[in-house]
Amino acid sequence: MVCLTVKPRINFPSSSPRFVAVALAMLSVNLACAAEMELTLQTRDPATGKIVLAKEKVDPARVGVIAVDVWNFHWCKTATVRVDAIVPRMNKALDAARALGMTVMLCPSDVVDNYVGYPQREAIFALPKVPVPVVMEVTCPPVPDAGGCACGRERCAVNYGWDGMHPALRIGDADLMPDTQADVYAICKQRGLTHLIYVGFHTQVCLLGKPMGLRAMKSAGLQCVLARDMTDAHPGYDPSRNFTPDLNTEQVVEHFEKHLSPTISFQDELAKLGKWDATWVVDPVRVTPWGTRMRPHLFEEPVTVTLTAPWQPGAEIRYTTDGTSPTAKSTLYTKPFVVTETTALRVSAFRNERAVCLESEGSFARMAPLPPLPDVFIGDLKPLRNVGFGHSYGGVMRYSGNTRPPQKDKSNLGQDLKINRQVYPRGMGVHAPCELLYEVKPEYKRFVALAGADENLVSISNGSNLAKYPSIVFKIFIDGKEAAASPVMRILCLAWRFNVAIPEGAKIISLVAMDAGDGSREDFANWVNAGFVN
Ligand SMILES: [Zn+2]
Repeated sequence: MVCLTVKPRINFPSSSPRFVAVALAMLSVNLACAAEMELTLQTRDPATGKIVLAKEKVDPARVGVIAVDVWNFHWCKTATVRVDAIVPRMNKALDAARALGMTVMLCPSDVVDNYVGYPQREAIFALPKVPVPVVMEVTCPPVPDAGGCACGRERCAVNYGWDGMHPALRIGDADLMPDTQADVYAICKQRGLTHLIYVGFHTQVCLLGKPMGLRAMKSAGLQCVLARDMTDAHPGYDPSRNFTPDLNTEQVVEHFEKHLSPTISFQDELAKLGKWDATWVVDPVRVTPWGTRMRPHLFEEPVTVTLTAPWQPGAEIRYTTDGTSPTAKSTLYTKPFVVTETTALRVSAFRNERAVCLESEGSFARMAPLPPLPDVFIGDLKPLRNVGFGHSYGGVMRYSGNTRPPQKDKSNLGQDLKINRQVYPRGMGVHAPCELLYEVKPEYKRFVALAGADENLVSISNGSNLAKYPSIVFKIFIDGKEAAASPVMRILCLAWRFNVAIPEGAKIISLVAMDAGDGSREDFANWVNAGFVN
């Protein structure tokens, strides 16, 4: 209990400024804690779906807030950015919860052991061992699951690349990082918690089913509540039947309300207590599918793009495609539209000319047709210059640990050349930053290649902790001038397609694999079916 109701033990003269300060401080703590909350709990009739509202009073000091799997990466790029989109409002809510005396628990599950040494984590091992009762069996009909990728036709492939919580999620000094049902139960007993508010991801998967999830804690007898404005369902997207990730989340929340737990609008609950300001700008407009410059949406067929701002109803969504910041006068979004070419979208939303959303971006890169195979493979040529990841000393490379010089017909570490689940027999396996410089022979008419992040690291533990890192930009220079460049290439996406005309009289061609601006960790890169067409 953090509510202070004891009187100060030290008697200061009543005129002492220090006494006044202490008294005021205690008054404010008392006010914060004593303010009993009256939650508006929303459930639904399981048969008709009709909303049922109930009021429940609770002392904030008896409330825990559990943030499940607010990760820094997800195998689906759209799912990843949708987590980014909720973190700003979640931070506001968790800050308010801490100020109200609630216990905040951050539960990153799979990656909790990357937090060894954090006091919030180490405190868990000192908890008393309390047997967990089974108060009820928590069952429900199968929860709808849209599959986990909201990118449409160009579907993302599963990997476990996350290695921590979202970098913008604030970790409070007094927060805790439990991981099991017993951990959370022991915290509840120790602190007298009766209610748990769940925020986080994904609603019907980890938030519900993880060992510290809603199902387990409800079974142990806690009053578990889902914050419907701070969660996202395992997403899906099918614009042909108007099925969007937001609609999917609504349907999953309804399932919870019918069968599993009441929900609250966390924002509304905090607003009632004067802890949420309606003028805060915390929500970006959501883009589906949601590529970003660092993880673009690569496509072959035209893409139907949906823009939504579910927590800013009635706001006008406006966007630009010319690289400028959207204003209240930019193009008004009225319905899903089709992107046919490489596009950089910038989006915001306005009410009475005032921006009510954070600006967001959508990055779409159109793939060229598959190039032909080369007549001359680069692996059969001797490069004029060949530098990789290491130091140069008098023109001699000192390759860094765990990397090698560019490898012919193998990945940089000597495995199969693999991009987007496909093995290629011919190519060069490198580690960015890397340059391969070749002499252009007069008969060379075009340079052709596929290029992408090497994928061998997902063969171990599904890329746990690592698959988020590879990010490479491939560029072609002819006689010192950039002739072509890829967008940022990530793991498990289509290989970029180069098919570059070589001007008559050209002398030198340079194939570059660059770091994308976020460091070169795990930037193993493959050029495959690369060479010259005569
Ligand atoms: Zn996806």
